[in-house]
Amino acid sequence: MATYLVCGGAGYIGSHMCKHLHEAGHHVVVCDDLSTGHAGALLWGAHAYGSIEDLEFLRSLFSQYQFDGVLHFAALSVVAESMREPQRYYRNNVAATLNLLRVMREFEVNKFVFSSTAAVFGEPQARMISEDHPTVPLNPYGLSKLMVEQVLRDSCRAYGLRAVALRYFNAAGADPYGRIGEAHDPETHLIPKLVRKALGEDLSVSINGTDYPTEDGTCIRDYVHVDDLAQAHVLALDHLDHAVGMHSFNLGNGTGHSVKQVVDAVREVTGERLDIPVAGRRAGDPSHLVASSKFARSVLGWEPRYTRIGDVIETAVRWHGSETCAAWLETLDGAEVAVQSHLGDDNKPQQYRQG
Ligand code: UDP
Repeated sequence: MATYLVCGGAGYIGSHMCKHLHEAGHHVVVCDDLSTGHAGALLWGAHAYGSIEDLEFLRSLFSQYQFDGVLHFAALSVVAESMREPQRYYRNNVAATLNLLRVMREFEVNKFVFSSTAAVFGEPQARMISEDHPTVPLNPYGLSKLMVEQVLRDSCRAYGLRAVALRYFNAAGADPYGRIGEAHDPETHLIPKLVRKALGEDLSVSINGTDYPTEDGTCIRDYVHVDDLAQAHVLALDHLDHAVGMHSFNLGNGTGHSVKQVVDAVREVTGERLDIPVAGRRAGDPSHLVASSKFARSVLGWEPRYTRIGDVIETAVRWHGSETCAAWLETLDGAEVAVQSHLGDDNKPQQYRQG
């Protein structure tokens, strides 16, 4: 049994990570500032309220626990926002990660698993994107992640850090028991938008462009279930027990689905008619983004369990229809939430502002 720090463990993918680590028998400590995460997602392990931008907070956390490794999910991840506010993205995604790596070095913690993204590749030059595809990000979000990958490569060489960067394609779905899932406001992603609309929410959704060079004219993406992503991290931690240096892996199902196919799949799962109008293209959307996950499969032994898009959507429908999801969305507006911080003086629940 190991002790892992999960930065951003109250977020969408981070909270599923905590569940997987807990189920694998590990001890989990979350640090999260609840800027985008949810207090209700803190179901597994201990947690400390704070930001990785705060060096002293990190130092006090690392002196309280002896971590065997760190999994880092605490980042901003909205492409359009990164275009409007690049400095915020570089400060949060790059500078704060440097803080974390600095404190890890001070406390001699040398296993690191990093949430990276397919956005590091930019415009795809191949149908299936493998790890050696050129990395030319099209926005500050993708570049911020690529910068950290470079920092990790150099840190592995100079300081003996061991690191894995996992480049997610389109994370989707939710805990099959409906305990945790995605709850953003405003929501920008295709599957949660369609599912919420099918469940009766008054949400404007359109098909962003039908003139792409694909079979039905709409963009193709590789949707991978969030539990499969989390499982890849558990395998990455095992990999770092014997592998030195820095390793990057692409995580996707290896199967593409067009926007129209996703709309059809949501119709099929929910039984709703779902009239989705066609709109123009969304700026910066590549026509086709599909992972070759051969490397992750062969080196990590990763085998995604959700291979059918309908099964992924089914978990999202269960989650978005739950009372928990509705309650989370309500607290996004700066509601006061009680969080048990393990760094509090008397260890009593304290009030923090969500959002
Ligand atoms: N999309 C769409 N309508 C929406 C939201 C998304 O047609 O309301 C399209 C989007 O243009 C892209 C695909 O669905 O081609 C997946 O978008 P999403 O935002 O879910 O993920 P991304 O691939 O941008 O990370």
